[in-house]
Amino acid sequence: MRMTARPQNVHQARLLRLLRDEGPRSRAELGDVVRLSRSKLAVELDRLVELGLVEGAGLAASRGGRRSGIVRLSPRLRFVAFDIGATSIDVAVTDGELEVLGHVNEPCDVRQGATAVLDRALDLLGKLRDQGLIDGQVHGTGIGVPGPVSFRDGMPVVPPIMPGWDRFPVRDAIGQELGCPVLVDNDVNLMALGELTSGVARSVDDFLLVKIGTGIGCGIVVDGSIYRGVSGSAGDIGHIRVDDGGPVCACGNAGCLEAYFGGAALARDATAAAASGESAHLAALLETHGELTGEHVSLAAAAGDPASVRIIREGGRHVGQVLAGLVSFFNPGLVIIAGGVAGLGHTLLAEIRSVVYRRSAPLATGNLPIVLSELAGAAGVVGGARLISDHVFSTA
Ligand SMILES: [Zn+2]
Repeated sequence: MRMTARPQNVHQARLLRLLRDEGPRSRAELGDVVRLSRSKLAVELDRLVELGLVEGAGLAASRGGRRSGIVRLSPRLRFVAFDIGATSIDVAVTDGELEVLGHVNEPCDVRQGATAVLDRALDLLGKLRDQGLIDGQVHGTGIGVPGPVSFRDGMPVVPPIMPGWDRFPVRDAIGQELGCPVLVDNDVNLMALGELTSGVARSVDDFLLVKIGTGIGCGIVVDGSIYRGVSGSAGDIGHIRVDDGGPVCACGNAGCLEAYFGGAALARDATAAAASGESAHLAALLETHGELTGEHVSLAAAAGDPASVRIIREGGRHVGQVLAGLVSFFNPGLVIIAGGVAGLGHTLLAEIRSVVYRRSAPLATGNLPIVLSELAGAAGVVGGARLISDHVFSTA
């Protein structure tokens, strides 16, 4: 099996990332940015061409004098991303510039266990291969899973909603299967990297992404990179305590943020509002569907159901309470709200904003946009490709 080509020094790594982020550039422009002499730059670029990572693409317009050759990343470069959620799976293929060439999504229960779910991901990748999207080698694969991950070991560690995944060697298993470098991370971190790459955080180096879905988690980006903490659990905000006297959480403690808001809490509160007669709208939805989900609350709220609007406002208030603390502590340049519950839209956003702006220090919120995710379903796969390309385009 052919090894994936990697840069051999920091100059080559820098050139590859530049071409990834900025697209094709003339040799003259690259020379200006990386501050290498013309001859030294030529040596590094020639080496990247030999490695099959870069190729020539014609001549640039003259800047006076000799016309400079344009170089670009090889159009044969391919990154793969698996974004495994609690209830769905996304697989995508990108080129070297992280443009998504193909993306498939289907429902998938993560509780089927590692082997079944990863086999399904590989099947979906096969479909993309059959469409002719991969011409030869995969250069790297980034994988997101909905639970805590040991980034160093490339495996989930005691993930609460992923039975059968504890310490399963995801990185090594997929690396062997695809013959390329693989990195595994928490799905929230991948979403944050996705927004940094081609979403709302494109021009922001320090930000938080709060994902509210089945659980609640937070991606922390510091100086353009994910902050993972000492053991990889940074951003696990779903179990921050909101109120000692609150509802009991799935983790066994009382009053966690997740016990107030998120998929399960929304279903619980909506069902209660239907049963108590507070909401005829939710009662009708319950009758039709046999159970209620966050999506039903969103539909009912959009139709003007006051109980659903109340549930969303209360949820937003609790998220805002925790977020106000995080904002005071971290002083981010942007907060992104993402995940299934982001579909609750502007009612939720308005409530979160009002609490955060009221409770955090003015210096921290003076210029703090709080916005909904732009990429929605594609954030995770774009982030997966970004994660692995950062690794492949480095000397680490
Ligand atoms: Zn908890």
